[in-house]
Order: sequence, then structure tokens, then C-alpha cells
Amino acid sequence: MSVSDIFQSMEYGPAPESEAEAMAWLGSDRSFGLFIGGAWTAPGDLFEVRNPARDQSLAQVTQASAGDVDAAVAAARRAQGSWAKSGAARARVLYALARMVQKQARLFAVLESLDSGKPVRESRDIDVPLVARHFYYHAGMAQLADSELPGRVPFGVCGQIVPWNFPLLMLAWKVAPALAMGNTVVLKPAEYTPLTALLFADLCAQAGVPPGVINIVTGDGAVGEMIVAHPDIDKIAFTGSTGVGRQIRAATAGTGKALTLELGGKSPFIVFDDADIDSAIEGLVDAIWFNGGQVCCAGSRLLVQENIAEDFHDRLRVRMDKLRLGDPLDKCIDVGAIVHPVQRDAIARLVDASRGDIYRAACDLPAGCFYPPTLITGLSPADPLMQEEIFGPVLVSTTFRTPAEAVELANNTRYGLAATLWTENVNLALDIAPKLVSGVVWINSTNLLDAAAPFGGVRESGFGREGGWEGLAAYSRLAITGKPLKPVPPVAAPKSAVVTGLDRTAKLYIGGKQARPDGGYSRAVWSGKGALLGHVGLANRKDIRNAVEAAQAAKGWSRTTGHLRAQILYYIAENLSARAAEFAARLSAMSGARQAQAEGEVEASIDRLFHWAAWADKHDGAARGVPMRAVALAMNEPVGVIGQFAPDDAPLLGLVSVIAPALAMGNRTVTVASEPFPLAATDFYQVLETSDVPPGVVNILTGSHTELAPHLAGHMDVGAVWSFSSSDLSQTIETEAARDLKRTWVNHARNRDWTDPSTREFLGHACEVKTVWIPFGEG
Ligand code: NDP
Repeated sequence: MSVSDIFQSMEYGPAPESEAEAMAWLGSDRSFGLFIGGAWTAPGDLFEVRNPARDQSLAQVTQASAGDVDAAVAAARRAQGSWAKSGAARARVLYALARMVQKQARLFAVLESLDSGKPVRESRDIDVPLVARHFYYHAGMAQLADSELPGRVPFGVCGQIVPWNFPLLMLAWKVAPALAMGNTVVLKPAEYTPLTALLFADLCAQAGVPPGVINIVTGDGAVGEMIVAHPDIDKIAFTGSTGVGRQIRAATAGTGKALTLELGGKSPFIVFDDADIDSAIEGLVDAIWFNGGQVCCAGSRLLVQENIAEDFHDRLRVRMDKLRLGDPLDKCIDVGAIVHPVQRDAIARLVDASRGDIYRAACDLPAGCFYPPTLITGLSPADPLMQEEIFGPVLVSTTFRTPAEAVELANNTRYGLAATLWTENVNLALDIAPKLVSGVVWINSTNLLDAAAPFGGVRESGFGREGGWEGLAAYSRLAITGKPLKPVPPVAAPKSAVVTGLDRTAKLYIGGKQARPDGGYSRAVWSGKGALLGHVGLANRKDIRNAVEAAQAAKGWSRTTGHLRAQILYYIAENLSARAAEFAARLSAMSGARQAQAEGEVEASIDRLFHWAAWADKHDGAARGVPMRAVALAMNEPVGVIGQFAPDDAPLLGLVSVIAPALAMGNRTVTVASEPFPLAATDFYQVLETSDVPPGVVNILTGSHTELAPHLAGHMDVGAVWSFSSSDLSQTIETEAARDLKRTWVNHARNRDWTDPSTREFLGHACEVKTVWIPFGEG
């Protein structure tokens, strides 16, 4: 094509990026071993890595064996102690890694595009700069970790498993915070796309990374399973599909391994009728055709206001026809290849089975592994394609009439990763953003990411955040570990009972009312001296269901102001104080505590209520400084309904310590009282009844922790479960929670010091961080 031809047609010409350097790095035999302890192993059992755009072989990579994983974990363990010693020394290494990525940016970008099929325009302008930014940001975190996170220490060795859609970027998201905090890592890249991780490993020595701090093992899902099951790994960080995330949750249940999961999504892209339509359409192109839609947070579900839908779809089809598909190394193309024929066939199967109106962009489809940009309209909200992640360049669309309906449709999904909303009305945008159930919300923008802005999901999109202080905290634990707990049995019935006064059977407390247990059973509570203190109901699965229903109905509490919640917590404290002597006597009778000790526990409980009342209106979100013309608001939202098993070692202080922070942050609770010493809780609900706590905000059950744990942890309307019980419920709770991937916080049969409010830990567990991105400026 001559220059004058180009001027005539104004067509984009090919602008190929050279692959010479990347091919030179791959070398002549193109076989790779594993990176363990700072050195390469000899290539072992090999599998092939292919360029999906050209269907060409790129390299042969080793399938790690169990022995290799053992060696990598051992190397990471050996390196961890000295790596954790100095934050300042770690900062220098992370800084060097950031510089190394910048210096080799072109090589990384080209290799990434060859391996994954993503356009080099994206790997060069988005993936690699974000990788460098992540290492810079976390160099700073390493420098500040000791002073800013006192009392927290690294987990130790982290096993990290990443998918194929952002191979290097996901590596950076995992490795940078782990290293900043003083952990060492064993990372497995995806089978389809291991090459940039190997390049990164190759360059680690140049950045001064000590041997063993970063270990890269390649292979398929079986290698991932080995990492998950390895007994000497302290934390698993996984990004990938919800199905595999669920398996990992179940496999790690009860092991004490820490876990964060970044999983799939079906994120809504909402367009209101007052939106700037041209911008919204360009946003949509970025939302669903960026990386060929193989993006966890892709705006794959278009919700467009009914009165503009026809025009919007028409304009969208015109824009789709202009998308250029082609070789990822051509800088002029918009949409690259699908990572692997297996994935392309999975996309095709889902689309072909659809009963919707399918529109495929009228683009030339190159040879190789490509799939055309596709729009499917006319689907009902319950259609499988409106619910299931397609993970390809396929947009599904439906319409709404009112903002309330938009919110309802947007939240009608088991996922909760991201959401985009497009409107020129700032009031509407800021009204809708908090109502969307998702970890990230983009206003008039989409797919904005930065190391300072927490990213992660709710519901079946996983738990934990990457980026910001939240992401750093996810790679650390409290320095103090509690002592082993033994189950505390209830005081046995005495041979000769002392029964005085009128019989009293404390009921359950559900929806603001005292309720008889559904099963009609109760048990006697005895003092150590053989006195009958009363009876308590034994709750069952139906009582759990009723309590969760009541808590769900009390949604208004989560929308109240922190100021109001503080007033109510102060009021609870005031009413408890008025009955302090009675509570102290009860504690002393139940647990045999000395009078002074029991009085101390009541005083500490009043103080704890004051503590959380103080925090109710002070756990501010933060405006995160992102390097673009936008503000990213990290907002602390309540989790929702939190199921709790109260501790047995401080029947009142422990109870108050778990209920109060949850309430302060706007959650509702279903709290199971201490099993051996339940009467402090049944007395406490009388205090709640007189303290203006709205019905359903706190529900108190009594009964067997081991019997109730599976039902509470398995309930789909419970957002999180905490257990501080002396019965070890950890495995049961984490296993049951795998079903809907709810958050858990369990004690693994270790006690904690209830005289310490553990403020930051409770705040973290009582909140979900939602990052709301608001770009600003004209033009
Ligand atoms: P998978 O869950 O299949 O794989 C992710 C990683 O886990 C790969 O390295 C994979 O190995 C490994 N793996 C597979 N099976 C197991 C197992 N049983 N135990 C341990 N590890 C295992 O996801 P994909 O690679 O197919 O990636 C696409 C999915 O990832 C999408 O659902 C997407 O939404 C999600 N994703 C989420 C992101 C987020 O931040 N929330 C970001 C990016 C993707 P191998 O590939 O070698 O089989």
C-alpha cells in the first residue's frame, strides 16, 4: 500500500511490533525448567506453550512434580526469615524490580502478547505500566510496613496461583504485596501463559532478589492443587474461576492456612438515558472488548434504560463493526486472539446455545484462535447467559425503566466483583454506587485499576482485596497467636441440686422478640456450687433460619448513619451500667469467677461498648491517590448479616466484643451465646430490648455450637461467619462456607485476649471495602 493509497482510504495500515527480542530471549532450544531457590532446574517433563494468534509453538515448559513443589516451598522457607528482617532492604529490592520492569517493558509486552494473544497496545500501555506501578507502590509499602502496621508480621511462605488473562499483571498483584510485607512466595502461572513469569524470574537476580524469595513453578491445575495442599505453606492467594476457588476453600478448610480469593464476575454496565452516549459506547468497548472480554471484571452485562435502548444498540452495532481484529503484535488492532482453542470453543458453545438475538460484528476474522465481538439482546434476566460468566468478547444486554430497577437487575447475580454506571447526573451516580453489591464501582469510566485502589469482590467473586493498605494487610497476621483452646463443657448437673426461686427459662431472642426454641428443648444451667441458675432454649436449624430472616429484614440498620449507631451503642452501655451489679453476680455464679473479677468483666464490657460507639462514626473511607485525573474512594461498607459464635472464656466481655464492632459498622448479627455460660447473653438481650436497638439487628441464640455451626455457615443469606468458640468449629465453618464463598473468621482452636479490643482486626472483618472510581475534569 502506497502513502497516497493510505491518504485516499484513511485505513489503518499494519504497524507490526518486532518479536525479534522476545524470540531471542526464548533462545534456540526454547525449553525451560523451574525457578527454585534463585536457580533454574533442568527442563523436566515438558509441555508446549503456543501463540494462539498464529497457532505456532513458542516454547516447552516443565510440568512441576510434587518433589519440585516441595523443593520450591523449602527454598521459600529458608529464605523467609532473613527476608522479613528489614523493610528498608525489601523496599530497595522492590524498587529495583519496578525499574527492571520499566527497562524491559517492551520485551515483557511483546512476550505477553505472543503468549496470551492480547493486543500489544494493551500489554504495552496497560499491563506492563501497571506492573511497574505495582512494584513502585509496594516498594513504599515495604518501607512503611513496620511503622504503619505495628504488631503485624508476615504469614511466612505464600502459595500463589494465577490465571492466563493477565499473566504478568496478576503475578505483580500477588508478588509485590507479599514481598513488601516480608513473605516469600511460590507462584504458579497458568499453563497457557507461563512465559512472562519465567522472564520475570530470569531478571530477578539482576534486581537483587535473594535466592528463594521468589520461586516459579510451572504446570497445570495439578501443580496448583499441590501448592494448595502443601503442609508448609502458610497462605494461599488465588485468582481464577469461582469453581476452582470453591475447591480451594474446601481443601484449605480447617488447616489454618490464610486464604484470599479473587474470582469471576458478571459485572453490570448500566447506561442511564442522560448518559453521554458516545462516551458510554467507547466505555463499553473498553469494558467488554478489552483483552477480548477475558477479564474478570469485564462489563459483560449491559443494562440500558429502555427509552434509549434501540438507539444505543444501533450505535453499538455500528461501533462493533469498526473494531479491528488481528495479529496481537500489530499496534493497529483493537481485539486480539482468544487465549486457547479450548476457551474459544467454550465461548462458541455458550453463544450457540443462546436463544437471544445474536449480532456478530462484521469484522474480518483472521486465521488463528479468534472470536468475533458479539452482542446478544432479547434475553430475560434469568437467562443462563445473563448469569454465567462467558469470559470472551460477548456482551449480553437487557433494559430497565427506573433507577431502582437498574439496581435490582445489577444485583441479580451470584457475583459481586465490579459495576459500571454511566450518567451525567452526579446525584444519581452517587445514589446508585452504594446500592450496587460489588467490590468496585466505576462511574463514567471502566476497568480503571491502580495499586493504591483496593480491588476484589464480594459474594461468589471471592474475598480479600488486592492493592492499597487492605491488600498489604491480606499478607500479614497479628504477631501474637493465642494459646490452644480446649472445649469448655457446661457445668454438669449436681448430685444434689439447690433450687431456689421461681423457674426461669430464657428464650431465644429473634427479631426483637423473645422466642421459644422451635424444637421445644431446653437445658438446665448450673452453678459450680450446684445451684440451678435457670434453663436456656436449645436452638435448631429452624431457629437459625428465623434469626437470619429477621436479620435480613433489618436492612435499614445498614443504611443508618454512624452517628445514630453510636448513640444506640452508648445507650446499650448506659443500660448495662445500670444493671452492672446484677450482671457481675450472674457471671460469678455461672463461671465461678471471683466477685472482683466478674465486676471487672462488666466494667470492661461497658468500656468496650464505648469503644465501638466511638468508632461507629470514625472508620472513614479514604480517597486514594491514583495517578490519573480521578478519585478512587475506598468506602467501608457493612458485610451484611454476620453469624457469630461467642467465646466461652469471657461470657459477657466476649459477647459484647463480637456484637459491638459488627453493629458499629452497620451489620446485623445472629449471635450464638457461649455454650457453657449462656445466661450472660440472655440477660444481655434484655438490655438490648431497652436500648432502642431495632428488631432483628441483634439476634441471640443459645444451644450447641457444633450442631448450629453447619447451619449458620451454610446459610446463603449470611455474609460472614466468625467463631471464637472453645469448640473447634473452624473446619466445619470453612467447609460449609465454600458453598457460597462467604467470608469466615475462625479461631482454629486458639484463644485471644479479650481485654484487647483488637480494633483494626475487627474493623477489617466487619467491613467490605468498595472502591468507587470517579474521574474528573472536562476534555
Ligand atoms: P482457573 O480457575 O481454571 O485457573 C486459574 C489458575 O488455577 C490456573 O493457574 C490454573 O492452572 C489453576 N488451577 C486449576 N485447577 C486448579 C486446582 N484444582 N487447584 C489449584 N489450582 C488450580 O481459571 P482460568 O485460568 O480459566 O481463568 C479464568 C477465570 O479466572 C475466570 O473465571 C475469571 O473470572 C477469573 N479471573 C478472576 C480475576 C479476579 O481478579 N477476580 C482475574 C482474572 C481471572 P492451569 O491454568 O494451568 O490449569
